Amino acid sequence: MTEAVAKKRLPLRRGRFVVPEDPNKQPYLIAGRCKNCGKYFAPPRHICLNCGKQMMEIAPLSGKGKVYSFTAVWQQLPGALVKVPYAIVIVSFPEGCQMHAVVTEDYDKLQVDQDIEVYFEKITEDKEGNDLIVDKFRIVKKSQE
Ligand SMILES: [Zn+2]
Repeated sequence: MTEAVAKKRLPLRRGRFVVPEDPNKQPYLIAGRCKNCGKYFAPPRHICLNCGKQMMEIAPLSGKGKVYSFTAVWQQLPGALVKVPYAIVIVSFPEGCQMHAVVTEDYDKLQVDQDIEVYFEKITEDKEGNDLIVDKFRIVKKSQE
C-alpha cells in the first residue's frame, strides 16, 4: 500500500537533468562521461564515440556554456508546452559536449558565442499533482560595467 506522499518535483523528460528529492537543492544537467578518455556526451550514451569503450558514467554539467547556434521558433506546435516565440539553441559546454536547449527570455537578443546558463522551472503538473520541471537557458547578464 502506498501512503499519501508530498508533492514531488519531477523532470518532464528523464535523462537530461536530475531533480534532487530535497526541495532546497537545485536540479542539475547531466551528461555521460567516459571513464577511459574523459570525453562528455549529452545525452548520456552507453559507448564512447571517442575511444569506443563501454565505461560511461553519469556526470553533472556546470550548466553554463556558450551559444554555438540558434534559430527562432514562431509556429506553435500542437501539444507543445512552450509557447512561441522562443529560440532553440545549441549550447556548447566547457566540458566539451553540446546540447539543444530552449530560450524564452530575451530570445531575440541571442548572439553566437554569448554566455548562457541553465535554469529550471515548473511547466505543468502531472495527474498526481507533482510539479513537472523543464530546463531552459538564459543569457548571462553582465555585471555593471
Ligand atoms: Zn572514451
